[in-house]
Amino acid sequence: MMSEQKTQKHLLLGAHMSIAGGIHTAVERALSIGCTTMQVFVKNNNQWQGKPLTDIDVSTYKELQAKSNIHPVMAHDTYLINLCAVNKEILEKSRKTLKDEFERCEQLGIEYLNFHPGSHMGQGELAGIELIAESLNLIHEQTKEFKVKSVLETTAGQGTAMGHRFEQLRAIIDRVEEKDRMAVCIDTCHIFAAGYPINTESGWEKTFNEFDDIVGLNRLVAFHVNDSKRELGSHIDRHEHIGKGNIGLEGFRLLMNDIRFDQIPKILETPKGEEMREDVENLKILKELCR
Ligand code: MN
Ligand code: MN
Ligand code: ZN
Repeated sequence: MMSEQKTQKHLLLGAHMSIAGGIHTAVERALSIGCTTMQVFVKNNNQWQGKPLTDIDVSTYKELQAKSNIHPVMAHDTYLINLCAVNKEILEKSRKTLKDEFERCEQLGIEYLNFHPGSHMGQGELAGIELIAESLNLIHEQTKEFKVKSVLETTAGQGTAMGHRFEQLRAIIDRVEEKDRMAVCIDTCHIFAAGYPINTESGWEKTFNEFDDIVGLNRLVAFHVNDSKRELGSHIDRHEHIGKGNIGLEGFRLLMNDIRFDQIPKILETPKGEEMREDVENLKILKELCR
C-alpha cells in the first residue's frame, strides 16, 4: 500500500559528543538527543598523550555503535597538534600524536579523522604547506592500509592558521602521495570568518562553485555546523548558536536544503552544557529549516 505521508529524508545530523566516562558514552549521549552522526575526541584533547584504549573500551564502543544508527562517526584531533610547527620538538610530537590518533580511529572503526592543517608560524605559506604534506606523507607511510580518512578542516585563518583558502587545501592535497586518503570538512563558522559569504544565496552558490573547482565536491565528507559570532572576513573563530550569529538562519537554510549535501554529515560544535539542551535546540532549528 502506498503511504499517504510524504517520505521524510534521512537527515545526517549530529553534534560533537563528550567521551567523559569512556568513548562508548558518546554513542549513548548522541542517541539520547536523536543524532544520526557525531564527532568525538579519541583521547583527552589538550594533552599530547592519552591512556591507551583497552580491549573493553574498544569492544563496548564498537558494539554500541554498530547497533545504533550513529553513522558515520568523525574524530577531531588534539588541539596541540601543528603539522607544520617550526619548533622541531613540537613538530615531532604533533606527528607522533596524530599517528596515535589514526591508530585509535582504526581500532574503533571510526571512518574520519578531522584535523586543522596547521599554522605556519611565520615561515610562510608555501613552507607551511610543504611541511604539512611531508607530515601527512610520513604518517600515511606509518599507517599503511588504514581505512580512516585524513580530513582537512577549513579554518578561519586566525593568526597564521592555514586552510582558510580553498587553494591552500588544494596545495596540500596536491603534495600528498596517497590522495585517495584525503578528504575535507567545511566548518561554516570558519569559512564565513575566512571571507566566504555563505549567508546569501548568491554567496552560497559562488562559494561552492569555487570549492568544487578548486578542491572538488567529491572530497567533501562533513560539515561542522556553527554560526559565527564574528563578521564576514574577520578571521576570528568564535562559534555561535544556529541563527544567532552573523551567518544567520538563511545560511543554514541553504545548507539544509542543498541536495548536493543530503548525504554529507552535519555536526554541531556550538557551546553547550552537560545536559546538551543547546544541542537539542540547535538540532530542532536545523530540522525546521528543511523544506
Ligand atoms: Mn576544529
Ligand atoms: Mn570545526
Ligand atoms: Zn572553530
